[in-house]
Amino acid sequence: MYKKAINMYNPKSTKAEEFISNEEILDTLKFINTNKNNLSLIQEIIEKAKLKNGLNHREAALLLACNDNNLNNEIFELAKKIKEEYYGNRIVLFAPLYLSNYCVNGCVYCPYHAKNKHIPRKKMTQEEIKKEVIALQDMGHKRLAIEAGEDPVNNPIEYILESINTIYSIKHKNGAIRRVNVNIAATTVENYKKLHEAKIGTYILFQETYNKDAYEKLHPTGPKHNYAYHTEAMDRAMQGGIDDVGLGVLFGLENYMYEFIALLMHAEHLEALYGVGPHTISVPRIRKADDIDPASFSNAIDDNTFKKLVAVIRISVPYTGMIVSTRENAQCRKDVLALGISQISGGSKTSVGGYYKPENKDEDSSQFEVNDNRTLDEVINWLMELNYLPSFCTACYGSGRTGERFMSVCKDKQIHNFCHPNAIMTLKEYLIDYASEITKSTGEKLILKELDNIKDKTRKTEVEQNLKLIENGERGFKF
Ligand code: SF4
Repeated sequence: MYKKAINMYNPKSTKAEEFISNEEILDTLKFINTNKNNLSLIQEIIEKAKLKNGLNHREAALLLACNDNNLNNEIFELAKKIKEEYYGNRIVLFAPLYLSNYCVNGCVYCPYHAKNKHIPRKKMTQEEIKKEVIALQDMGHKRLAIEAGEDPVNNPIEYILESINTIYSIKHKNGAIRRVNVNIAATTVENYKKLHEAKIGTYILFQETYNKDAYEKLHPTGPKHNYAYHTEAMDRAMQGGIDDVGLGVLFGLENYMYEFIALLMHAEHLEALYGVGPHTISVPRIRKADDIDPASFSNAIDDNTFKKLVAVIRISVPYTGMIVSTRENAQCRKDVLALGISQISGGSKTSVGGYYKPENKDEDSSQFEVNDNRTLDEVINWLMELNYLPSFCTACYGSGRTGERFMSVCKDKQIHNFCHPNAIMTLKEYLIDYASEITKSTGEKLILKELDNIKDKTRKTEVEQNLKLIENGERGFKF
């Protein structure tokens, strides 16, 4: 639709400076500056987005820059529609699990940076991980995202692999962690192979910022200083056999428009080269933490910009899961759920050992301040009252629907035939095993309503039979 810039931009390259081309980003910024009041062009892009096949980074950036109220309302309505069509009303739940906050890097926005000498440093033993996982299972969690600082001595890959093994091995009462996503530092193809063999779910790595100059200043010391090595991590993960990868930017570090364009370019790169885009996109915003004051970062984005960002990512990359954490408060989470978010964390602790042993203030090892302090049960009840269907499903992963296979199921909007019934069955497990009386009663009513939304009669009968078996104590049904 638009003249291609003459620059190094090459989505099929494996070199960071070519698939995240600074020239192409600057060119796109010029393009949106010239066209941001070109309402007919914006309308044309909205019409293209209505086909629900996504947008490229230039088109998406122009929608994000649009200031016209009527067109913005159209963009928000379209985001809601696309979310509904691809994901229905399901919201997947997960919890972060911090294994260790030892870190050799110098990231200026993170309290785990090596120069912070007063934050308590902790690394869980396998025994402590067991206790932590039992506490998480007792809340009802089935899906975790493990986190650890980068430290080859304290947190080598062997420690991460052993911890994953421990997490999967724990079967406490009816509990089980069925999917372990991993958020650790960029590493080698060899190590990604090992993570793949350890049966991780998604490999998540936030870029923090795509702007190379800013990146190098924000990561002054440690291995993370290497922009290309960090930016090319997903390529190495793919080469190591991990086909579900999760992208993200820490919004607030740099100009959000620059980050947004680059984030979409990264998604385009993965799709162009590996035929599979990001499994998830996370949208964290910088938050207060031990020695970190968010006011010292001048690029913070307000709630309205944040909502628009979520909506435009949703219509630009319709198939991707979108994640919002407890960095955001309940009201903001409610707003962005409608606009595109499909996964949220609940009952989260961002400190090492925070689930089995709640921190006293002096020992606080949190990575950031949580703005939604509700329990998982409260979050589940709240979601259901908002007419969402909470899901603890991990079936795609267990059934090999990952990478390209998952994407084609998702792009064909087939996800409803698997995910919706699976959400109902995993919610039922949660209600029986972990829910408070009030949540149970809201949930049972919701399940009856959702059963009526299963159009395929055979599938509906199967789900009803499985629900009975779940009542009789069986667990782990999935399609
Ligand atoms: S962001 Fe990660 S790498 Fe950087 S200091 Fe924090 S834990 Fe270490």
